[in-house]
Amino acid sequence: MSDCIFCKIAAGEIPSNKLYEDEFVVAFHDISPQAPVHFLVIPREHIPGAAAVTPDNSRLIARCFEVIAMLAQRENLAGGFRVITNNGQDACQSVHHLHFHVLAGKNLGERLIRD
Ligand code: AMP
Repeated sequence: MSDCIFCKIAAGEIPSNKLYEDEFVVAFHDISPQAPVHFLVIPREHIPGAAAVTPDNSRLIARCFEVIAMLAQRENLAGGFRVITNNGQDACQSVHHLHFHVLAGKNLGERLIRD
């Protein structure tokens, strides 16, 4: 999608602080971190959100979680981490390209990311 900021990050057309990328997935630091560790894991393919996951693209979600597990180990998140995806208006989704927030580096408590 030509006007999608995360498609542009995936394509390297706008800068980001990347942690990892491969043929299918890109991970980069969130520009407005909500925890000491806060990065985003996205499929390169433009999927608008969790509600748009289908049997045709769900392998990309599996790949996102493989990358999350790899980065959790590489970034030494042994104390734990939280994975969140916001979908739609009530969840305050602000970027309509599926992304998984990975939060860590402190006790995250029981509050939700958009409290
Ligand atoms: P959400 O509100 O769940 O859709 O999350 C979107 C996230 O993208 C927010 O946490 C933003 O801080 C983050 N974000 C927006 N633009 C950028 C950017 N250019 N680089 C990194 N993170 C971004």
